[in-house]
Amino acid sequence: MNQERVDGRLRFVRSLHLTSCQMGAEEVLRCLDETPIAIVIGSSTAGTLNTQITALTALNLLGRLFRHLFICVPPNAIVDERLPFVQGQLDRALLQFATRVSPEIIAEPVVKPPAGAVELHISDDCPAANKRHIYCTGAGWLARVGRRAVYLSSAEAARGNPIGPLIAAALGVAEVFKLVFGDVLQGVVPIEDISFSALTYQAQGKLIGPDLGRVTLPPTLLVGAGSIGSSFLWGLAHLQNTQGTLTIVDHDKLEIHNPDRAPLVLDDAAELGLEKSQWARDTVQPWLPGLKITPYTGTIRQYIDSLPQDYTLPLAISAVDSIESRRDIQDALPARILNASTGPTKIEITRHAHFGKDACLYCLYLPEILDRPPIRLAMERTGFGQKDVAELMLPNNPRRLTAGNIRGIEQRNNLAPGTLNEFTGRSLQDLLAQELWYSQAPIPLETGHALVTTAFVSALAGFLLLAETLKEANPAFAPYRLNGIYEQELLSMPNEFLYPGQRDKTGYCLCWDKQTRQRLYNQKYVQIDGVVS
Ligand SMILES: [Zn+2]
Repeated sequence: MNQERVDGRLRFVRSLHLTSCQMGAEEVLRCLDETPIAIVIGSSTAGTLNTQITALTALNLLGRLFRHLFICVPPNAIVDERLPFVQGQLDRALLQFATRVSPEIIAEPVVKPPAGAVELHISDDCPAANKRHIYCTGAGWLARVGRRAVYLSSAEAARGNPIGPLIAAALGVAEVFKLVFGDVLQGVVPIEDISFSALTYQAQGKLIGPDLGRVTLPPTLLVGAGSIGSSFLWGLAHLQNTQGTLTIVDHDKLEIHNPDRAPLVLDDAAELGLEKSQWARDTVQPWLPGLKITPYTGTIRQYIDSLPQDYTLPLAISAVDSIESRRDIQDALPARILNASTGPTKIEITRHAHFGKDACLYCLYLPEILDRPPIRLAMERTGFGQKDVAELMLPNNPRRLTAGNIRGIEQRNNLAPGTLNEFTGRSLQDLLAQELWYSQAPIPLETGHALVTTAFVSALAGFLLLAETLKEANPAFAPYRLNGIYEQELLSMPNEFLYPGQRDKTGYCLCWDKQTRQRLYNQKYVQIDGVVS
């Protein structure tokens, strides 16, 4: 029981829909601890940066779940000096890194994986298909993953862009997970062969894509250094020459569950209870000498309060796990927002610009809020529709309760006629503020916090946020910037689920506030640039 509470790996697997042949907790843990997983690197590509990025990241993500790993690397391959966190001879570097992910990992160097191992083959010179083999490789903006040998014709090209290789690792590890648990998990769809483009979100992408060139981040604010935020930073550390400024805001300290899903947590850092923003900066700064990284420990609200009034936020990255924090990020009025959220095995990436015109970040989560107290409570109590309640509850809304409204509410609540007379001509807020009113039947609050997930899920979210950030950093990539929402279920396959965000229609969202927020936003950005693209 105790172990179940502590071991996030177990909580994650049990949060998934197991079929009728329920696995017991012990069996789940045994699968994670004992299934032999091998990382196999082909000899002709072991020396390439692309292959090494995928191998290191896959090892990192696998190590957050599985405990028995085999490293099958051709001898004499040397770590590319652009690869962060490791150096020297590749096989030894990977073995050593595994113990940094978790001291509980047993990693063994082998020439050939043992029989029965699940094999993750990285690179395109691997032996033919086998039921327990996964193949993955990445280059440029492309990640190619499958159950049969896959290759990218120009895997040598687009060196220096880590996105494809990083995503290949996340998708490859997701396939390993599916294979290990495949027969007991519902909704698992194996990937036969896809070639996912982080440039276009196409699942049969062809474009390794234009070169990144020199990366200079616009002044960027990363809110949240948890599992998604630290995946973003893990990816960024592969771009050694990045210039510009990055501020990391997080109010939290590292906690004991962080190693399960945050790829930046190494060497038992979580045990030290460090402040996340500082720790994240200290962990990646050595690999990013040209990027000025500033940590801030506090909430986004506290951070904004620390700025001069005429501050601007050209780009904010929302890597938080609650709707309230997303609301606060939107309310800080960044020019543009990139946002990610994760469920147990699902990710969603959204992009927001043109505040007051397109769906803002809060618009997307508002339906959930409107479904929660106090709106839901107010609907329950009054019998009014959602839109009416939302409108009546807006601060400064001129609409007042009529005598007819009050009679209806009395009836609905079995109150004697006239009980609520004093509220005729007053606001709904006044009525709801009555303590008596609330004490009647409490409705349980949902917290809206992220469900238990695991490293390969938040890693994909973080890597896609990084891809979008790179598109923001360079006007040449503007045509490829995400328009609306991208959604992906990691137990299934990339499905090109791109759709526009719906702007809030109830008028409740903060982006309808013309007088203050829209005016401020336009003052900050539109009048300067002429346009916010
Ligand atoms: Zn909105």
